[in-house]
Amino acid sequence: MGSLRSLSRRDFLKFCGAVAITIGLNEAAIPEIAEAIEKATKRPPLVWLEMALCTGDSEAIIQSAHPGPAELVLDVLSIDYWDTIMAPSGKQAEKSLQDAVEKGDFLCVVEGAIPTGEDGKYLTIGDKTGVEVLKEVSEKAKAVVAVGNCATYGGLPAAKPNPTEAKGVSEVIGKEKVINLPGCPCNGRWVIDTVVYYLLFNKLPEVDELLRPKMIYGQTVHQNCPRRAHFEAGEFVEEFGSEEEAKGYCLYKVGCKGPEAHCNSPVAGWNNKANWCIGSGAGCIACTEPNFWDAYTPLYDRLPGVSIPGIGNVSVDTIGKIAGVATAAGIGAHFVGQALTGRLGKGAPPEPDGGEA
Ligand code: SF4
Repeated sequence: MGSLRSLSRRDFLKFCGAVAITIGLNEAAIPEIAEAIEKATKRPPLVWLEMALCTGDSEAIIQSAHPGPAELVLDVLSIDYWDTIMAPSGKQAEKSLQDAVEKGDFLCVVEGAIPTGEDGKYLTIGDKTGVEVLKEVSEKAKAVVAVGNCATYGGLPAAKPNPTEAKGVSEVIGKEKVINLPGCPCNGRWVIDTVVYYLLFNKLPEVDELLRPKMIYGQTVHQNCPRRAHFEAGEFVEEFGSEEEAKGYCLYKVGCKGPEAHCNSPVAGWNNKANWCIGSGAGCIACTEPNFWDAYTPLYDRLPGVSIPGIGNVSVDTIGKIAGVATAAGIGAHFVGQALTGRLGKGAPPEPDGGEA
């Protein structure tokens, strides 16, 4: 793992530019972002709690491409406790946590669901249950960032029949000072963008009703998906290994949940934009949504209906029918979204944006 300070100036500014886009600023803000990162000499303390989890979020963050979240987190924040990567163990580690909590004024990151059944006995850390640790630590934290679907909404541990009564952080300690960064795993970029926003503005970003930052989760995957023109043209992959799949057609019929999943993966990508889920040929599994294991499985079954902002509920058959009419009328495939909204055929010229999103 490298260090942000070992980056060339050019790469560092490129990194700041990518952050600026997500947090809703333009290129003019790059020097300000660079300064906020470079001057974070106070190094706000960070306590990272691990609950019921697979450590996928830590792995995704630590192993992501350079320059990555790990560099930012390790360079800019003072890691007082993160049991996955810290050297001390056992009582020594518990002492580190206790010292950090006593000092107060820290940022608390929580990874993993919190088992609450039978007084929390299904998860113990040291002599305490996960519930007790979370309550004690979060009480003294400036803010609590729940990372990954398990910490935000319970994730896989909370899937039926949920024998440990696993819950997300805000269900256990309330919504105050909690921000959710769901995903399975959470994209390391989302952690970077949230931390930089916090450093720049000394507050957490605006969130939606599910406590997710709007700057990251404000749009559906479908709205920005590069395969969307195929969706609107009624061009679908019917089975994997087919000619349609090779052509990069829409994955809706083979289970893509992109129309209901919220995040900026189509734009931000993963691992320095090396690729992302749908880019690799897999349908979106809606891992940023609450209850996604129960609500969105089987993963390869299609969603029963599609609700598209500005269009409402449509079925695949409707899309195909309108696409056929549009094709017969000589209208380009990417204008079908406008046909669905009723704007086409009423004298309005098609807009070159391909739809409503
Ligand atoms: Fe992309 Fe999935 Fe929407 Fe198709 S259904 S356009 S693959 S997000």
